[in-house]
Amino acid sequence: MFGDQLNRALGPLGAATPSSARILLVESRAKLASKRWHRQRAHLVICAMRRFAAELVDEGFEVDYRHAPDLASGVLAHRAECSPSRVVAMEPASFDGSALLGRLGVDVVRSDQFLCHYDEFGAWAATRRSVKMEDFYRWQRVRLGYLMDGDQPAGGRWNFDADNRERPPRDGRAWPEPLRTPLDDLDRSVLDDLPSSCWGRDPDGTWATSRTEALRRLHHAVDVVLPVFGPHEDAMLSTSWHLAHTLLSPYLNLGLLLPGEVCDAAEAAYRRGDVPIASAEGFIRQVIGWREYVWGRYWQWMPDYRGANELGAHRPLPPLFDGTPTGMRCVGQVVGDVADHGYTHHIQRLMVLGNLALLAGVDPRALTEWMWSGFVDGAEWVMLPNVVGMALHADGGRMATKPYAAGGAYIDKMSDYCGSCAYDRRKRTGPDACPFTTLYWAFLDRHQERFTASPRMARQVAAARRLGDLDAVRARAEQVFTALDDGTL
Ligand SMILES: Cc1cc2nc3c(=O)[nH]c(=O)nc-3n(C[C@H](O)[C@H](O)[C@H](O)COP(=O)(O)OP(=O)(O)OC[C@H]3O[C@@H](n4cnc5c(N)ncnc54)[C@H](O)[C@@H]3O)c2cc1C
Ligand code: SF4
Repeated sequence: MFGDQLNRALGPLGAATPSSARILLVESRAKLASKRWHRQRAHLVICAMRRFAAELVDEGFEVDYRHAPDLASGVLAHRAECSPSRVVAMEPASFDGSALLGRLGVDVVRSDQFLCHYDEFGAWAATRRSVKMEDFYRWQRVRLGYLMDGDQPAGGRWNFDADNRERPPRDGRAWPEPLRTPLDDLDRSVLDDLPSSCWGRDPDGTWATSRTEALRRLHHAVDVVLPVFGPHEDAMLSTSWHLAHTLLSPYLNLGLLLPGEVCDAAEAAYRRGDVPIASAEGFIRQVIGWREYVWGRYWQWMPDYRGANELGAHRPLPPLFDGTPTGMRCVGQVVGDVADHGYTHHIQRLMVLGNLALLAGVDPRALTEWMWSGFVDGAEWVMLPNVVGMALHADGGRMATKPYAAGGAYIDKMSDYCGSCAYDRRKRTGPDACPFTTLYWAFLDRHQERFTASPRMARQVAAARRLGDLDAVRARAEQVFTALDDGTL
């Protein structure tokens, strides 16, 4: 079993019994040393693996839980010691794991961890002139039967996204508090084992490390969070790091929860009248639409996708990503949320961290590495399409037809960050100009040739060309770049 397939129903484990199979899990030191992991992320994965192994032992399985230099040597040592008649694994979610299994002579079983296998995605895509997420999502809805009344979408519309982009409420309301599970001896022993290179705050019990606790988070998400999920999905508040997001992504990505069961639960709550259609549809679209779409795309485009850098972005990751203090309130807040929780929600990933990296020309590999090691839900298959494609437009528009570039006005509209910031989101020049606003215009200026022909970007590029103070914007952008690189912005 891979560490992101921790579910009794998945792959070969689904049919295994204690008399038919011995289970091998490898805790690889090379994997742990491969990145500067966030402490909550490393703790979550290792703890979930160890708990899963213990559950299998309780069920009567013989489990070979191996601490090995790397996965390959773990498998080889297992073979040497246990002489299994065959070693079987489910297809891994990420590309390199697949190649490794081939080299190790492991029998590979088709993955059933997603609702649409990437082969099916590829076959669907091959029948289309353009492979849009919205079309894929509708195809999934019909095929899987989610939120369908006969052959029509429940609520009369396929997509309620337009209802889900409200500004943050300023009424000081309380958002659903995440559940917490007190740490136990296993948690503490895992924390003791983490290398000193790990960063970020220690876990506080927010992230569940067993299926039982993940299921409790699912019920909480459906009963308490989903009723208020939809309208403020895109809003950002300094007073809440999670708002009404479900916080289920790490469990889905590790196998502790399965996509079908979370969608079943959301649909049932809608049918009972407990969750409005806009919230149920918004959530199910993210899971059967976006999540499965990025998985399918990842497998279509790998391995070349990993190196995509169409905008020629080569800036190293600025020091503020590692917590160097910054006057930019939005970035300071979001980077702080990542350090505290290993999490920040979608719009903060896309429109604050991703947007800054896009406008500043940060190397896609540098941002991918930072997010992958820093987020509790990180994995290459989900990171690359979201970072390289969505956030940085480094694939030249294969994922998203236009770059998600925005100035301070967007962040101000969707957050409470700007009011107490050292910079002025309305200004594009001068020492107190908002770096997002300056860099937004400088980005359009820098890439005008590329985007002028794009129907979705031509208007913004024309507006940038017409700016009377373009020289001053360019000069201010240079100052911003220097300060970003120096860690003095
Ligand atoms: C730059 C960037 C990096 C990202 N990195 C990751 C990552 O490493 N791992 C990850 O799981 N998601 C990633 N996402 C997608 C998304 O931001 C997270 O899935 C979401 O914030 C998780 O929080 P949640 O469970 O509270 O989500 P909710 O807002 O409650 O959404 C429900 C579920 O939908 C799925 N989902 C929603 N959007 C996406 C998406 N774009 N891609 C894949 N799944 C999606 C997730 O499984 C999520 O749990 C990234 C997005 C961006 C823009
Ligand atoms: S003014 Fe600019 S830098 Fe400051 S919080 Fe707003 S968007 Fe961020």
